[in-house]
Amino acid sequence: MYPAKFEYHRASTVEEALSLLDQLGDEAKVLAGGQSLIPMMKLRFAVPSALVDINRVPGLDAIAEQDRTLRIGALVRHKACERSPELRGRFGVLGDAAPQISDPIVRNLGTVAGSLAHADPQGDWASAMLAAGAAVVARSARGERAIPIEDLLRGPFETTLEPTEVITEIRVPDPGPRAGGTYMKLERKVGDFATVGVAVQVSLDDGKVARAGIALTGVAAINFRATAAEEALHGRDPDEEAIKEAARLAADAAEPRSDLRGSADYKRNVVRVFTERGLHEAADMAKGEHERPPTSRRFPRAVQRRPGETTGEDYFAGEDTVKGVMDEVREKEDD
Ligand SMILES: Cc1cc2nc3c(=O)[nH]c(=O)nc-3n(C[C@H](O)[C@H](O)[C@H](O)COP(=O)(O)OP(=O)(O)OC[C@H]3O[C@@H](n4cnc5c(N)ncnc54)[C@H](O)[C@@H]3O)c2cc1C
Repeated sequence: MYPAKFEYHRASTVEEALSLLDQLGDEAKVLAGGQSLIPMMKLRFAVPSALVDINRVPGLDAIAEQDRTLRIGALVRHKACERSPELRGRFGVLGDAAPQISDPIVRNLGTVAGSLAHADPQGDWASAMLAAGAAVVARSARGERAIPIEDLLRGPFETTLEPTEVITEIRVPDPGPRAGGTYMKLERKVGDFATVGVAVQVSLDDGKVARAGIALTGVAAINFRATAAEEALHGRDPDEEAIKEAARLAADAAEPRSDLRGSADYKRNVVRVFTERGLHEAADMAKGEHERPPTSRRFPRAVQRRPGETTGEDYFAGEDTVKGVMDEVREKEDD
């Protein structure tokens, strides 16, 4: 399929991107990794009049811990999260989600911020970020605001972002010294979207649960926190009984639909089992009893790089992605 005709603008700074979005109006869209937007345009589910490419904007590709907050820039790719030492241990829910997203090509290009802005209910990042209690920073020409992930997600493929707003970073609060988390995903085959995903993060204080974050993927119209399950753990020892009760409550909160991937009952049972497993793993990590490599290291790497060797994959500019698409549009016009 060919996308509809569109203008292409490349921004060199955040301010330029914001000014372009302001001028171009509601029909313009931000282009990040293009891994969701370009397929949507080709299918004509999205028909933007213009794209504002932010891939050349400097300073948006960092992951850094600062002022007890982990900051993930708008151009941080899934791949960078997969490899980042910052996203292990206490932030393990994020480090575990990253390598389970699609395949290396999508992970090399797609961004965490783009995934959150796309709001696909089968997207993995929204659940990981909900469990971690994260927020996005949205900027427009008129100012900046922080939007907690639960307030960002409005419905399937729908967010509370204004068309003139750009997510500049994601902020994840420090879960404290005694914390652990994981993301568990059931997929039909490697690289598939989630049939069911469960994100879990636990912080302990004096052996009791000070905060539990449990969020579900693929079992409702949007990713959501299983709040009754979280509250059932609060202030308790994360023992077998408490974890089983929380897992049951998480399964009760799920609203899965029967489809080719499985029946509603099956999916609800997967939520229960994953929540139970995830909570055990997260609590053990928080207690320091369960050191295990992050998911990314549990899988063998398809391509091993020698130190210092570059494959060129660290360079990406959006025009490379849209060039082929624009060529197709021009060819179509010439016909
Ligand atoms: C084959 C395939 C398999 C996939 N499998 C998975 C999977 O298993 N799990 C999963 O979670 N995802 C999966 N995805 C989606 C993938 O993670 C995308 O990378 C991600 O959803 C979008 O990120 P992007 O940077 O490519 O955004 P883009 O495609 O560039 O943009 C997506 C949307 O977000 C908006 N946007 C992007 N960046 C910003 C910003 N900074 N501020 C405001 N708005 C912005 C765009 O305007 C657009 O509406 C898959 C995609 C493909 C093509």
